[in-house]
Amino acid sequence: MEAVIAALVSVAGLVVGSFLNVVILRARTKTSVADGRSKCMSCQNALAPRDLVPVVSFLALRGKCRSCKVPISIQYPLVELSAGLLFFLAFLHDGFGLMLVRDLAFVSALIVIFVFDLRYMEIPDQFTMPAMVFALFANVYLGADLVSLGLGAIVAGGFFLAQYVLSKGKWIGGGDIRLGALMGLMLGLSHVVAALFVAYVVGASYAAWLLATKKANANSQVPFGTFLTVATVVVMLVGDQIVGWYLGLMG
Ligand SMILES: [Zn+2]
Repeated sequence: MEAVIAALVSVAGLVVGSFLNVVILRARTKTSVADGRSKCMSCQNALAPRDLVPVVSFLALRGKCRSCKVPISIQYPLVELSAGLLFFLAFLHDGFGLMLVRDLAFVSALIVIFVFDLRYMEIPDQFTMPAMVFALFANVYLGADLVSLGLGAIVAGGFFLAQYVLSKGKWIGGGDIRLGALMGLMLGLSHVVAALFVAYVVGASYAAWLLATKKANANSQVPFGTFLTVATVVVMLVGDQIVGWYLGLMG
């Protein structure tokens, strides 16, 4: 039974991932998600249902539009696969229940923010603001400590606000401040501190690799929100282990 539910949750992830692609695209082109059928960005041909099956359609079409043969962005199958995998991992972590519903919503919001920041170097408030409201209410409903959530939002948001002020907006953007607050409301104080730590380890490793391979120089802009969203998901899944390890070090 457990395996059946795990499979269903993973398939739901693929389908939700397909929807998230639409959310990202429509936010970018400023059209409504409810606005008609999806179409090819190149030839404007409406996509048939057989072109909308997550991952499978991309493979069947060999990554090209059925009518005009223009390559389809690899973003589409990658987002679908990522959502499927993360939904599966969230199920392993939470089991079946309201906690899982909350985490699937969190993961979905974080995927959208990740892709948007990576591709467009922007973290729109239309994603972070509703996610903040949802995170606050869902966590309080599920019994989280309001003080921990509030402090988490203030500490993480304030951490980026301080850098924003110090660098006069050069190191990070205003969107990172709101994302920091969102992370605090999702994770609470101890876990958001762990997430910031993970984000800096991942970010610094990536930057070192870029510099070493000369793919970037010290002045290159980095979409820092991508590291923050990855770190948030990591801490959602293994945050207790990270905090336990850290407290062990403190002795
Ligand atoms: Zn086309």
